[in-house]
Amino acid sequence: MSVRPPDKVQPIQAVEEFSFNCGPEVPCFTECCRALDLVLTPYDALRLRHRLGLDSAAFLERYAVIEEHQDEAFSLVYLAMLEDERRRCPFVGPAGCTVYEDRPAACRAYPIGRGLRLTPCRSHLQELFVLVREDHCRGFEENRSITPEDWMADQGLEPYNRFSEAMLPLLRHPIILQGWQPTPEQQQEYLHTLYQLEYFRRRVAAGEISLPDEAEVKGQEAAELDDYQLLLAAIKWLPTTWPGHKSDGRLDK
Ligand code: SF4
Ligand code: SF4
Repeated sequence: MSVRPPDKVQPIQAVEEFSFNCGPEVPCFTECCRALDLVLTPYDALRLRHRLGLDSAAFLERYAVIEEHQDEAFSLVYLAMLEDERRRCPFVGPAGCTVYEDRPAACRAYPIGRGLRLTPCRSHLQELFVLVREDHCRGFEENRSITPEDWMADQGLEPYNRFSEAMLPLLRHPIILQGWQPTPEQQQEYLHTLYQLEYFRRRVAAGEISLPDEAEVKGQEAAELDDYQLLLAAIKWLPTTWPGHKSDGRLDK
Protein backbone atom coordinates (compact mmCIF):
# COMPACT_ATOMS: atom_id res chain seq x y z
CA MET A 1 0.00 0.00 0.00
CA SER A 2 1.43 3.38 -0.93
CA VAL A 3 1.65 5.98 1.80
CA ARG A 4 0.72 9.50 0.81
CA PRO A 5 3.65 11.84 1.53
CA PRO A 6 2.83 14.77 3.79
CA ASP A 7 1.49 17.87 2.10
CA LYS A 8 4.19 20.42 1.56
CA VAL A 9 3.86 23.65 3.46
CA GLN A 10 6.44 26.36 2.99
CA PRO A 11 6.65 29.94 4.23
CA ILE A 12 6.27 32.58 1.53
CA GLN A 13 6.55 36.36 1.56
CA ALA A 14 3.53 38.54 0.82
CA VAL A 15 5.12 39.80 -2.40
CA GLU A 16 6.88 36.59 -3.50
CA GLU A 17 5.59 35.11 -6.75
CA PHE A 18 4.41 31.52 -7.15
CA SER A 19 2.82 29.71 -10.11
CA PHE A 20 -0.82 28.84 -9.65
CA ASN A 21 -4.21 29.03 -11.23
CA CYS A 22 -7.55 27.37 -10.59
CA GLY A 23 -10.76 27.16 -12.58
CA PRO A 24 -12.80 24.88 -14.85
CA GLU A 25 -9.80 24.54 -17.20
CA VAL A 26 -7.58 22.68 -14.69
CA PRO A 27 -7.68 18.85 -14.91
CA CYS A 28 -8.31 18.50 -11.17
CA PHE A 29 -11.28 20.91 -11.11
CA THR A 30 -13.32 20.39 -7.88
CA GLU A 31 -11.07 17.50 -6.84
CA CYS A 32 -10.37 19.42 -3.64
CA CYS A 33 -14.06 19.91 -2.76
CA ARG A 34 -14.42 16.74 -0.76
CA ALA A 35 -13.34 15.03 2.46
CA LEU A 36 -12.44 18.37 4.00
CA ASP A 37 -12.08 19.33 7.64
CA LEU A 38 -13.31 22.79 6.78
CA VAL A 39 -13.78 25.02 9.82
CA LEU A 40 -16.43 27.70 9.33
CA THR A 41 -15.75 31.01 11.02
CA PRO A 42 -18.78 32.95 12.28
CA TYR A 43 -18.42 35.19 9.22
CA ASP A 44 -18.25 32.17 6.83
CA ALA A 45 -21.41 30.76 8.42
CA LEU A 46 -23.23 34.09 8.18
CA ARG A 47 -22.34 34.56 4.50
CA LEU A 48 -23.43 31.02 3.66
CA ARG A 49 -26.71 31.14 5.54
CA HIS A 50 -27.64 34.46 3.93
CA ARG A 51 -26.82 32.94 0.58
CA LEU A 52 -29.02 29.94 1.31
CA GLY A 53 -31.82 32.00 2.85
CA LEU A 54 -31.75 30.01 6.09
CA ASP A 55 -31.97 31.04 9.70
CA SER A 56 -29.02 30.08 11.90
CA ALA A 57 -30.64 27.05 13.51
CA ALA A 58 -31.61 25.55 10.13
CA PHE A 59 -28.17 26.27 8.68
CA LEU A 60 -26.33 24.66 11.59
CA GLU A 61 -28.60 21.63 11.60
CA ARG A 62 -28.26 21.03 7.88
CA TYR A 63 -24.69 22.04 7.14
CA ALA A 64 -22.59 22.01 10.29
CA VAL A 65 -20.87 19.55 12.59
CA ILE A 66 -19.82 21.00 15.94
CA GLU A 67 -16.94 19.27 17.65
CA GLU A 68 -14.60 19.88 20.52
CA HIS A 69 -10.92 20.14 19.61
CA GLN A 70 -8.15 19.36 22.06
CA ASP A 71 -6.11 22.46 21.09
CA GLU A 72 -8.99 24.92 21.18
CA ALA A 73 -10.87 26.41 24.12
CA PHE A 74 -14.12 26.47 22.17
CA SER A 75 -15.76 23.89 19.95
CA LEU A 76 -15.17 24.21 16.21
CA VAL A 77 -17.93 24.44 13.63
CA TYR A 78 -17.13 22.34 10.56
CA LEU A 79 -18.89 22.27 7.22
CA ALA A 80 -20.61 18.87 7.11
CA MET A 81 -19.51 16.79 4.10
CA LEU A 82 -22.05 14.57 2.37
CA GLU A 83 -22.19 10.99 3.56
CA ASP A 84 -21.43 9.55 0.12
CA GLU A 85 -18.39 7.52 -0.86
CA ARG A 86 -16.32 10.56 -1.75
CA ARG A 87 -17.52 12.69 1.16
CA ARG A 88 -18.24 15.57 -1.21
CA CYS A 89 -18.88 19.10 -0.09
CA PRO A 90 -22.65 19.72 -0.09
CA PHE A 91 -22.10 22.73 -2.35
CA VAL A 92 -20.06 21.18 -5.15
CA GLY A 93 -21.83 20.67 -8.46
CA PRO A 94 -20.77 19.59 -11.96
CA ALA A 95 -19.99 23.20 -12.89
CA GLY A 96 -18.08 23.92 -9.68
CA CYS A 97 -18.98 25.64 -6.43
CA THR A 98 -22.68 26.50 -6.24
CA VAL A 99 -22.08 29.09 -3.51
CA TYR A 100 -19.00 30.54 -5.18
CA GLU A 101 -19.61 34.21 -4.29
CA ASP A 102 -20.07 33.23 -0.62
CA ARG A 103 -17.64 30.32 -0.34
CA PRO A 104 -15.74 30.11 2.95
CA ALA A 105 -12.41 31.81 3.51
CA ALA A 106 -10.47 28.53 3.47
CA CYS A 107 -11.77 27.74 -0.04
CA ARG A 108 -10.83 31.20 -1.27
CA ALA A 109 -7.38 31.29 0.25
CA TYR A 110 -6.02 27.90 -0.92
CA PRO A 111 -3.12 27.42 -1.74
CA ILE A 112 -2.19 30.28 0.55
CA GLY A 113 -2.51 30.00 4.30
CA ARG A 114 -2.58 33.30 6.17
CA GLY A 115 -1.65 33.44 9.84
CA LEU A 116 -1.96 36.35 12.21
CA ARG A 117 -0.22 36.92 15.45
CA LEU A 118 -0.51 39.66 17.99
CA THR A 119 2.68 41.45 18.87
CA PRO A 120 3.67 40.90 22.54
CA CYS A 121 2.12 44.25 23.53
CA ARG A 122 -1.10 43.15 21.73
CA SER A 123 -1.24 46.44 19.85
CA HIS A 124 -0.37 45.25 16.33
CA LEU A 125 -1.03 42.26 14.11
CA GLN A 126 1.67 40.51 12.14
CA GLU A 127 0.68 38.72 8.96
CA LEU A 128 2.44 35.50 7.91
CA PHE A 129 1.87 33.45 4.76
CA VAL A 130 2.52 29.83 3.82
CA LEU A 131 2.12 28.07 0.49
CA VAL A 132 0.37 24.69 0.77
CA ARG A 133 0.95 22.14 -1.99
CA GLU A 134 -1.61 19.35 -1.93
CA ASP A 135 -0.55 16.35 -4.02
CA HIS A 136 -3.75 16.20 -6.03
CA CYS A 137 -3.68 19.88 -6.93
CA ARG A 138 -2.53 20.55 -10.48
CA GLY A 139 -3.01 24.29 -10.21
CA PHE A 140 0.74 24.67 -9.62
CA GLU A 141 1.37 23.47 -13.19
CA GLU A 142 -0.56 26.43 -14.60
CA ASN A 143 1.35 29.26 -16.22
CA ARG A 144 0.27 32.15 -14.04
CA SER A 145 2.50 33.96 -11.56
CA ILE A 146 0.92 35.68 -8.61
CA THR A 147 1.90 36.81 -5.11
CA PRO A 148 0.04 35.89 -1.86
CA GLU A 149 -1.00 39.52 -1.52
CA ASP A 150 -2.53 39.62 -5.01
CA TRP A 151 -4.10 36.17 -4.60
CA MET A 152 -5.91 37.32 -1.46
CA ALA A 153 -7.25 40.38 -3.27
CA ASP A 154 -8.17 38.33 -6.36
CA GLN A 155 -10.17 35.87 -4.25
CA GLY A 156 -12.15 38.56 -2.42
CA LEU A 157 -10.68 37.80 1.00
CA GLU A 158 -10.68 41.35 2.35
CA PRO A 159 -13.94 41.16 4.37
CA TYR A 160 -13.10 37.63 5.56
CA ASN A 161 -9.70 38.83 6.76
CA ARG A 162 -11.30 41.80 8.51
CA PHE A 163 -13.52 39.47 10.54
CA SER A 164 -10.63 37.10 11.28
CA GLU A 165 -8.68 40.04 12.64
CA ALA A 166 -11.65 41.04 14.82
CA MET A 167 -11.79 37.47 16.18
CA LEU A 168 -8.12 37.30 17.11
CA PRO A 169 -8.28 39.16 20.46
CA LEU A 170 -11.14 36.82 21.41
CA LEU A 171 -9.50 33.57 20.29
CA ARG A 172 -6.10 34.59 21.67
CA HIS A 173 -7.46 36.26 24.78
CA PRO A 174 -4.93 36.11 27.66
CA ILE A 175 -7.24 33.95 29.71
CA ILE A 176 -7.36 31.38 26.90
CA LEU A 177 -3.60 31.48 26.46
CA GLN A 178 -3.34 30.74 30.19
CA GLY A 179 -5.32 27.54 29.70
CA TRP A 180 -8.78 28.65 30.87
CA GLN A 181 -11.44 26.02 30.18
CA PRO A 182 -14.89 27.51 29.54
CA THR A 183 -17.81 25.89 31.30
CA PRO A 184 -20.46 24.10 29.20
CA GLU A 185 -22.63 27.21 29.63
CA GLN A 186 -19.84 29.45 28.34
CA GLN A 187 -19.36 27.07 25.40
CA GLN A 188 -23.05 27.41 24.60
CA GLU A 189 -22.87 31.16 24.92
CA TYR A 190 -19.97 31.24 22.44
CA LEU A 191 -21.87 29.22 19.85
CA HIS A 192 -25.15 31.04 20.39
CA THR A 193 -23.60 34.49 20.26
CA LEU A 194 -21.34 34.03 17.26
CA TYR A 195 -23.19 31.43 15.18
CA GLN A 196 -26.82 32.16 16.07
CA LEU A 197 -26.94 35.88 15.74
CA GLU A 198 -30.72 36.03 16.10
CA TYR A 199 -30.17 35.04 19.74
CA PHE A 200 -27.72 37.89 20.32
CA ARG A 201 -30.02 40.35 18.51
CA ARG A 202 -32.97 39.35 20.72
CA ARG A 203 -30.94 39.85 23.87
CA VAL A 204 -29.65 43.24 22.74
CA ALA A 205 -33.15 44.36 21.77
CA ALA A 206 -34.48 43.21 25.16
CA GLY A 207 -31.81 45.25 26.95
CA GLU A 208 -30.28 42.12 28.53
CA ILE A 209 -26.88 42.90 27.08
CA SER A 210 -24.88 45.99 27.73
CA LEU A 211 -22.40 46.40 24.91
CA PRO A 212 -18.86 47.45 25.86
CA ASP A 213 -17.51 50.84 24.76
CA GLU A 214 -15.22 49.16 22.22
CA ALA A 215 -18.28 47.86 20.35
CA GLU A 216 -18.88 51.54 19.52
CA VAL A 217 -22.67 51.17 19.54
CA LYS A 218 -25.26 51.29 22.27
CA GLY A 219 -28.02 48.76 22.82
CA GLN A 220 -30.76 50.65 21.05
CA GLU A 221 -28.63 51.34 18.01
CA ALA A 222 -27.29 47.79 18.00
CA ALA A 223 -30.79 46.43 17.52
CA GLU A 224 -30.85 48.24 14.18
CA LEU A 225 -27.48 47.08 12.90
CA ASP A 226 -27.28 44.66 10.00
CA ASP A 227 -26.07 41.15 10.76
CA TYR A 228 -22.46 41.87 9.83
CA GLN A 229 -22.22 44.95 12.05
CA LEU A 230 -23.96 43.05 14.83
CA LEU A 231 -21.51 40.17 14.52
CA LEU A 232 -18.62 42.59 15.04
CA ALA A 233 -20.34 43.92 18.18
CA ALA A 234 -20.94 40.34 19.38
CA ILE A 235 -17.26 39.48 18.90
CA LYS A 236 -16.30 42.45 21.09
CA TRP A 237 -18.96 41.77 23.70
CA LEU A 238 -18.38 38.06 24.32
CA PRO A 239 -14.99 38.26 26.11
CA THR A 240 -16.42 40.85 28.50
CA THR A 241 -18.47 38.01 30.01
CA TRP A 242 -15.35 35.98 30.81
CA PRO A 243 -13.68 36.02 34.23
CA GLY A 244 -11.18 38.77 34.88
CA HIS A 245 -11.67 40.56 31.57
CA LYS A 246 -10.46 44.10 31.12
CA SER A 247 -11.29 46.08 27.99
CA ASP A 248 -7.65 46.19 26.91
CA GLY A 249 -7.48 42.40 26.94
CA ARG A 250 -5.38 42.24 30.13
CA LEU A 251 -6.34 40.21 33.17
CA ASP A 252 -7.18 41.37 36.65
CA LYS A 253 -4.36 40.58 39.04
S1 SF4 B 1 -17.78 25.57 -0.50
FE1 SF4 B 1 -17.45 25.56 -2.71
S2 SF4 B 1 -15.24 25.87 -2.98
FE2 SF4 B 1 -15.58 25.26 -0.85
S3 SF4 B 1 -15.31 23.05 -0.79
FE3 SF4 B 1 -17.49 23.45 -1.11
S4 SF4 B 1 -17.80 23.45 -3.32
FE4 SF4 B 1 -15.60 23.65 -2.95
S1 SF4 C 1 -7.20 20.82 -6.70
FE1 SF4 C 1 -6.17 22.84 -6.86
S2 SF4 C 1 -6.28 23.51 -9.00
FE2 SF4 C 1 -7.66 21.74 -8.73
S3 SF4 C 1 -9.63 22.71 -8.39
FE3 SF4 C 1 -8.75 22.36 -6.36
S4 SF4 C 1 -7.59 24.23 -5.84
FE4 SF4 C 1 -8.09 24.30 -8.04
